[in-house]
Amino acid sequence: MKPFAGFGQSGPHHSAAVNRGVPMQNKTLTAIVTHYVNYRESDRILTLFSLQSGRADVKAEGCRRPKSRLLTASQPFVYGEFVLFKSRGKYSLNSCEVRESFYPIRDDYDKFAAGSAMLSLCNEAVQPEEPNEPLFSLLYHSLSFLSYGSIDAQDLMICFLIRYLNIIGFCPSVTKCANCGKDVRTESNIAFSPEAGGALCALCSFRAEPISSLALEAMRRIILLDDKSIDRVRLPEKAKTQLWPHLLSYVRHVLGHPVKSLTILSEHLK
Ligand SMILES: [Zn+2]
Repeated sequence: MKPFAGFGQSGPHHSAAVNRGVPMQNKTLTAIVTHYVNYRESDRILTLFSLQSGRADVKAEGCRRPKSRLLTASQPFVYGEFVLFKSRGKYSLNSCEVRESFYPIRDDYDKFAAGSAMLSLCNEAVQPEEPNEPLFSLLYHSLSFLSYGSIDAQDLMICFLIRYLNIIGFCPSVTKCANCGKDVRTESNIAFSPEAGGALCALCSFRAEPISSLALEAMRRIILLDDKSIDRVRLPEKAKTQLWPHLLSYVRHVLGHPVKSLTILSEHLK
């Protein structure tokens, strides 16, 4: 796997230029394409998740023409150095040095559904001019492992969801009861509720779905991992079958709507 060369950069590189009398500002972003919308006959509006400045919407002019030099860069999952120029308040893509296209994701249905869910979850969480290096690192490593790693796609998606929730500030309570604060690590009757904010002790678990201590322990360990170690995760079948529906309903509750690609992946994994 190629090293993640993006870290350590302090910000986008700017340079000024003038084109036909209109002042332009160039900048280079280390970014991943998370979404696109086709526009006019051969253009695309790309949504980039950039390391330096969060979300950026960029026009890729003529990128759908077969001979366009922007063709390869204008696909979802592409990771690279995107050179943009700003004219009349909007950014267009000038060129891109593609570092990784994560091609194997497109070759496998489960991988594609998992990767698409990761992209749309990041799209929901990232705002313009708001860098989020932990989330960028999680996405980059997860797409890398999905393409070239040995971890099962569902295990990877479970790790992604738990760590995603933690990064965006909605980590479920996994050590203490979300209602009364009691330590649940030694409890045997534990439940889990998105509405309550995570694990519930026996006394507070009224009507909530049960969860095993094994599944809760798996969540605690996944939160503590570093991104590079995710590929080593092998979830026991019992933990996996419990964590999957709990996390899906937790994410749906946090975002306020279901994530389409997660629902598709869920149907396919049945
Ligand atoms: Zn309680």
